[in-house]
Amino acid sequence: MIPLILSLAVAGGALGALGARGNRVRTGDERALWITAGAIGGPLSVAEYAGILWAKNMIPGIRLPVLAVAIGVAAGAGLLGAALTPFLDESEDRARWAASFLIKWMRSPLATTAGLLAAATARLLGRPVDFRRGMLFVDVGPGGGALALGGVAWCRARCFGKDRCTSDALARHEAVHSRTVAAVGELGFYLTYLTAGVLWAKVQGGPWNGLTADGCGQPFEKTAHTYTGDPAAAHRCGKPRGAPVPSGGPAKT
Ligand SMILES: [Zn+2]
Repeated sequence: MIPLILSLAVAGGALGALGARGNRVRTGDERALWITAGAIGGPLSVAEYAGILWAKNMIPGIRLPVLAVAIGVAAGAGLLGAALTPFLDESEDRARWAASFLIKWMRSPLATTAGLLAAATARLLGRPVDFRRGMLFVDVGPGGGALALGGVAWCRARCFGKDRCTSDALARHEAVHSRTVAAVGELGFYLTYLTAGVLWAKVQGGPWNGLTADGCGQPFEKTAHTYTGDPAAAHRCGKPRGAPVPSGGPAKT
């Protein structure tokens, strides 16, 4: 069992590294967290699917080999999530966004299914629901702020304009988080965000779920911040990959 868990952790870490590359993560701290989240998420997403398949096998009908199918689904969807979703989300094609959403759903069956129930409720109540960049944006009440849970962002009313749509900048920000989930799995991402990410934010002297004006704080917010904040600031606090930062600060992306 331990060799299997270790192999899944290594494979998950590789998916995290691939996802960080595909999403153009630039700072060393955020990249390290993508890999850490992948290593944690590898065994956990297989365990998650094993649980779902075990429950499904309680229902009479087709019986599936639990472990083999769980590994196949997690690895297949993880590879698509890490390698493909950045390109799908960057396109302006709703069919490609839909394909991206399906991959994200495969990688976050709990969070995205809960989000779809919230979206159905919002629709029933006549509240805005927007679909953009491979994510569903759901109005969950008055106020501001958004929280990406798998392929669904739970948004406050101020996220939506008069046209009942979210801004593209916000959609791109939240889509980065959903693509991290697509690469490393929902359990790996949220556990790492709330543990290592929060600790790292404290060490950098920034907020646990955002960034200071100098780009210090939660490493997982850095790439996302390039769409909703100052792109140069987002990369200032962590160590950029490659060439050293010139004395005038990193170039704008
Ligand atoms: Zn964010």
